[in-house]
Amino acid sequence: MKQRIVLLGPPASGKGTQAECLVTAFGLPHVSTGDLLRSACAQGTLLGQEADVWTRRGLLVPDELAMRIMTTWIAAHGTRFIFDGFPRTIGQAENLDAVLGTLKAPLDLMVLLELDDQEIFRRIKARLSCLQCGATFSTSLHGCSLGGRCPHCGAVLVHRNDDNTEALEQRLRIYQEQTFPIIGYYEKKSPRLLHRIDAGKGSNEVFKKISNLIMESKTLKS
Ligand code: ADP
Repeated sequence: MKQRIVLLGPPASGKGTQAECLVTAFGLPHVSTGDLLRSACAQGTLLGQEADVWTRRGLLVPDELAMRIMTTWIAAHGTRFIFDGFPRTIGQAENLDAVLGTLKAPLDLMVLLELDDQEIFRRIKARLSCLQCGATFSTSLHGCSLGGRCPHCGAVLVHRNDDNTEALEQRLRIYQEQTFPIIGYYEKKSPRLLHRIDAGKGSNEVFKKISNLIMESKTLKS
């Protein structure tokens, strides 16, 4: 079974939703850099204040900051994981590979969730988030409304401060410019690591495809 998994994809491609289902099915720890940053921000920590300057404008936090929280996470939780939203730049990918190389625990699966811009905008418009537990809901699929209570933890549901048209356009631009090149980087470095999945399909179908990839026993050579 694959144990070091990265979910890659544009905003609203379902990384968080899939990660939640995979945690239940496979018991792997899940970490979203976006959730870690939002939680630091909600708690008003120094790191949160530093991150907020970038995230509210739809910009990536500096690689050094992203690496700082992720190396801390790996040191505390070990080398079994589902990463969601990390790595997000070539610099982060190279640094992560170096950290995992030292631990003799390279990535063994990268899933690219592909989704077109029109569907991304539609999903983000309908998306409500719980800033306390990180869960997300769709007004069209789950019948929840702005200011309602999170079904998981009871906190108030809100639109994230970067889920507006302006910040989303910026996030999509940045995804194309800074995150997309990661695909070529890994395709070259480790040709069988990356798998593309159409994220426009229903989430059950996407989940089955990722589960099959996790259960495939072929090992990777980099
Ligand atoms: P989404 O995938 O919907 O854009 P995330 O919750 O993954 O949202 O991330 C929200 C924001 O947090 C990003 O727009 C960025 O500002 C910041 N962020 C998350 N992960 C990273 C990362 N690995 N490197 C830099 N910034 C990040």
